[in-house]
Amino acid sequence: MRKIYADNAATTALSPKVLEKMMPYLTTVYGNPSSLYEIGAEAKKAVENARAKIASLIGAKSPNEIYFTSGGSEADNWAIKGMCRALKQKGKNHIITSKFEHHAVLHTCKALEKEGFEVTYLDVYENGIVKVEDVKNAIKDTTALVTIMYANNEIGTIQPISQIGAICRENRVIFHTDAVQAMGNVHINVEEQNIDMLSLTGHKFHGPKGCGALYIRRGVRPDVLIDGGAQERTRRAGTENVAGIVGLAEALELAISTMEERNARLTKMRDRLIDGLLKIERSRVNGDRTNRLPGNINMCFEGIEGESLLLRLDMAGISASSGSACTSGDLDPSHVLLSIGLPHEIAHGSMRLSFSDDNTEEDVDYILEKVPVIVDYLRQMSPLWEKIKEEERNS
Ligand SMILES: *Cc1c(COP(=O)(O)O)cnc(C)c1O
Repeated sequence: MRKIYADNAATTALSPKVLEKMMPYLTTVYGNPSSLYEIGAEAKKAVENARAKIASLIGAKSPNEIYFTSGGSEADNWAIKGMCRALKQKGKNHIITSKFEHHAVLHTCKALEKEGFEVTYLDVYENGIVKVEDVKNAIKDTTALVTIMYANNEIGTIQPISQIGAICRENRVIFHTDAVQAMGNVHINVEEQNIDMLSLTGHKFHGPKGCGALYIRRGVRPDVLIDGGAQERTRRAGTENVAGIVGLAEALELAISTMEERNARLTKMRDRLIDGLLKIERSRVNGDRTNRLPGNINMCFEGIEGESLLLRLDMAGISASSGSACTSGDLDPSHVLLSIGLPHEIAHGSMRLSFSDDNTEEDVDYILEKVPVIVDYLRQMSPLWEKIKEEERNS
C-alpha cells in the first residue's frame, strides 16, 4: 500500500545528509566539550561552529546570542518565564500574547498568571492573523513582554512579525516569537525584524528531535534557566547535546538554502489540494488562504468527526492530524480553531495535512482520490450529517 507522511508540522524525518554530519559525534568524537584534551576540544569546536552557523542564518549579530536548548518547548518556557521573572522586580507584570499560541506558550502564560502576572490574549480573527493595531493598543507601562508566534502550527497562518517588532521596539517592550513552525520556511532576520528572543527546534525542519535553540539579543537578560556548570554562558547548564547541535545547524542550513525552490513547489501542491478538496460540499479552509505556510492545509468537513477521518486516512496509508499532536487524544476541539471563530461541531471535523520536501504531486493525487470517498462514507453513517441535510431540505 502507498504510504504518505503528511504530518510534517508535528515532526519531520531526519535528513540522511544531517545524520551523516551527526554520526562522528555519536561515535568517535565523544569527548566532553568542556574538557581540554583533543576529543573534547574537537567536540567544542563542532558546537561553536554550529552556534556561529545558526547565528548567521537568522541574522544575529553574534554567535553569543544563540543558546542551545532541548527544543522549542524549553526555549519558549525560558524566554517567557525567564524574562517575566527578571522584569517583575522592575514593576513589570503584564504579558501580551495571542489566543492561538502553541501550548508551550499558552500554558507558560497560565503558569505565570498563578504567580500574579496579568496576561492579555489577543484575538486572531477569522483569518488567523493578529492585528498590529491590537498589539499597539494592548501595550501599557507595566508590559514586560510581547510573545506572538511567527506561524501557527495548526493552520499555518503567518503573523506580521516585522510590524509587531517595530511597535515593540518603539515602546521599549521585549519581543519574543515562537518561530518553530516558520523557521526554514520563511525569510527570518532577527536584526531587521526587531526580534529580541526567538525559539526554534530541529525536528520541524528535518533535524534531530530533542535539540533546539533560543536566540537572546545581547543585553536582554532573562533569568538563568538551569544552574550548574558554565555551559551556554552559565545560563543553561548541562553537558551539550553535541550531535544534536551539529544536526540542528546542518538541518537549518539545508532548509534555508533550499527554501525558495521548495516553497514554490509546495505552494502549488497546497493550492491544488485545497482547490480539489473544496469541491466536497460543506467544506472550508481554516485560516487565510494565501498568507500561510507553503506546506499547510487545514480544512473542515461538516457532519463528520475529525478522529474518524484520521483513522480512515491511516487505513489508506495517509498520516494526517486533526491539529496539534499535543492535543490529539483529548476530545475538546482545538483551541486554534475555536480562536478563529469556528463553532464546536464544525471544529470537530477538522483535518491538517502538512507537507515537506519529501512530498510529491503524486501524494496530492492520491489524497484527492481518497479523502472525498472517506468523507462521503463517514457522512452516510453520521446522524449529524442527516440533520444538516434535513435542515437544508426545510430551508
Ligand atoms: C512543535 C512546536 C513547539 C514545541 O517544540 P518541541 O521541540 O517539540 O518542544 C513549540 N511551538 C510550536 C509552534 C511548535 O510547532
